[in-house]
Amino acid sequence: MRIVADRSRCEGLGMCEAMEPEFFEVGEDGTVVVLDDQPDEARRTEVQAAVDSCPVAALSLQG
Ligand code: SF4
Repeated sequence: MRIVADRSRCEGLGMCEAMEPEFFEVGEDGTVVVLDDQPDEARRTEVQAAVDSCPVAALSLQG
């Protein structure tokens, strides 16, 4: 699985970082930085929840 971030949509609201700071961080420019875009399969549930938490649908999970 791979995390894909559409930084043009991100509004820096930080929901993803609040839920999974190991994978997401709001960078200095106010948009998301994916710290690790290939989480272990065992983390799917949490990562999916963080992806789904984005209010502007800037995140998706492929695979
Ligand atoms: S939750 Fe969405 S809008 Fe907020 S920082 Fe993460 S990707 Fe950006």
